[in-house]
Amino acid sequence: MEKLIKKTAGLIKKSNYTIAFTGAGISVESGIPPFRGEHGLWNKYNPEVLDLEYYLQNSEKCWKYIREIFYDFFADANPNLAHQVLAKMEKEGLLNSIITQNIDNLHQEAGSKAVHEFHGNSKKLKCLKCGKRYSSSEFDFKFIPPKCVNDGEILKPDFIFFGEGIPEDAYANSFAEAEKAEVCLVIGSTGEVMPASHVPRTAKQSGATIIEINPEESMFTKQLTDIHLKGKAGEILLKLGEYLFE
Ligand code: NAD
Repeated sequence: MEKLIKKTAGLIKKSNYTIAFTGAGISVESGIPPFRGEHGLWNKYNPEVLDLEYYLQNSEKCWKYIREIFYDFFADANPNLAHQVLAKMEKEGLLNSIITQNIDNLHQEAGSKAVHEFHGNSKKLKCLKCGKRYSSSEFDFKFIPPKCVNDGEILKPDFIFFGEGIPEDAYANSFAEAEKAEVCLVIGSTGEVMPASHVPRTAKQSGATIIEINPEESMFTKQLTDIHLKGKAGEILLKLGEYLFE
């Protein structure tokens, strides 16, 4: 493993364009469970609360679960070592951008600037009627559902629900980044969510070396991955950082 991490550091140092594609796994060490797998959120909650059509009919009922998942669980989470190493890599000119499927804002809180949020961000809320956006910090979630000051509409978290399209800018920017990449780190993603999983595929097709960091195998491992650093994101990135910043 040590050898593979050293090799990866060498590839990143040589690369003219490096991106990271991150999934729920990178935030597990911050205490946020992933959706899938043994301890995944879908073992406890019914995914229909995040289905747009269902939500539009049952907003008040869905907010009870949305609060519990995204504003209780997520609220106390802080960036972990993995987020911090990626932020430092960007600062040192070793990482060009992050494309994240996560909606927890932890890359930005760690200091990363070039972050493309493929699925939106739970720290923002949006009025579906007038389009006004709010920071979630403006609300006391003891009182739900949160409502728009302009028109009294129930606000929706500004991340995408099942049945909603990917935000246009994030979509275009993410694929543009993938096309430029010489190295693509794929961290903590099963690769089961589409179209996000096409981002590393596009990078691979454009000639990038795919470095996967995941304690398990994913949909990417056999099809795309050139180097699998099998382990937890925080532990692997900490070691990688030792070689990168020496
Ligand atoms: P996923 O839930 O499908 O899979 C998580 C992956 O992370 C698995 O492959 C697992 O083996 C791996 N993993 C677990 N612990 C890890 C660790 N410590 N280090 C590295 N990897 C680890 O995740 P996904 O592919 O991102 O898809 C889930 C969807 O759910 C995404 O679209 C995302 O928007 C959303 N989601 C986001 C959050 C968040 O914002 N933190 C949390 C849950 C789900």
